[in-house]
Amino acid sequence: NEILVDIQNLKKYFPIKKGFINRETQYVKAVDDISFHIRKGETLGLVGESGCGKSTTGRTIIRLYDPTAGKIMFGGKDIANLSQKELKPYRKKIQMIFQDPYASLNTRMTVGDIIGEPFDIHNMCSGKEKLERVHHLLQKVGLNPDHAARYPHEFSGGQRQRIGIARALAVEPEFIIADEPISALDVSIQAQVVNMLEDLQNELGLTYLFIAHDLSMVKYISNRIGVMYLGKLVEIAESDELYNNPAHPYTKALLSAIPHPDPNAAKESKRIVLEGDVPSPLNPPSGCRFRTRCKYAMPKCAEVEPILKEVSSGHSSACHLHE
Ligand code: SF4
Ligand code: MG
Repeated sequence: NEILVDIQNLKKYFPIKKGFINRETQYVKAVDDISFHIRKGETLGLVGESGCGKSTTGRTIIRLYDPTAGKIMFGGKDIANLSQKELKPYRKKIQMIFQDPYASLNTRMTVGDIIGEPFDIHNMCSGKEKLERVHHLLQKVGLNPDHAARYPHEFSGGQRQRIGIARALAVEPEFIIADEPISALDVSIQAQVVNMLEDLQNELGLTYLFIAHDLSMVKYISNRIGVMYLGKLVEIAESDELYNNPAHPYTKALLSAIPHPDPNAAKESKRIVLEGDVPSPLNPPSGCRFRTRCKYAMPKCAEVEPILKEVSSGHSSACHLHE
């Protein structure tokens, strides 16, 4: 399929003031020069510990944040520097689903008004047609049309996430950025929501960026997976390839943290415990940002930043060990 989203050298730095005397500005380098693409109809998983920049990446792509540098190509057009007015058509084409559906829903509005609000914002329809479309959307996400008259607090976490998804679908988007959409849900509910997202993707031809903090669920929904660490993309590959042949030491550690479905078969899969915390993105380590926690770190790792290089077809990793 053709490439729908093409992120080129994207950076997002947040300025902060430091010190009382000379108030110099420092920058949190939340996303620091990352590139990847997503094909139409594909799901790209984006994984990393909290603070690695994955949410910032999603929010910058949808232009909730202005990028510091780089290109955000959507359907062949760079939307990185468009004004709010110029962005209007893209506000329909790109939608976001959030981690905490309760926080992202206006609790004083009925479910019907929440799902129908985008129709007003984009002047799409009103009255009877709007009501019919809301009912249709509720059914699409496995809820009941009668639910339109109720309020968010009357629903479970999983149902609220369905409401958030219905609202995102209202404007018939092409691309959905899902920022940890299942992290706050019970494990038993997670699979249901993931299955529903997959069914909707097949039915509606949607393209997904699926953000998650660990690798356990993304495997099932993603065609390809990118791994982020401290603002950098350190590895990207097809899902199966990433699971079977992880190349980057950080990816290996993340994978080893997933409980193995069959403990008897897990002879080799020893858990790699990462020492220490993620360093501050205000002052990331020189060279390889992972070096303070990497058991393979060598002198070169402090001096030279490893760049993403292809280790096999369609599989890239940024580590000096590959040389
Ligand atoms: Fe570890 Fe060095 Fe590779 Fe970084 S470049 S992951 S520190 S071996
Ligand atoms: Mg986040």
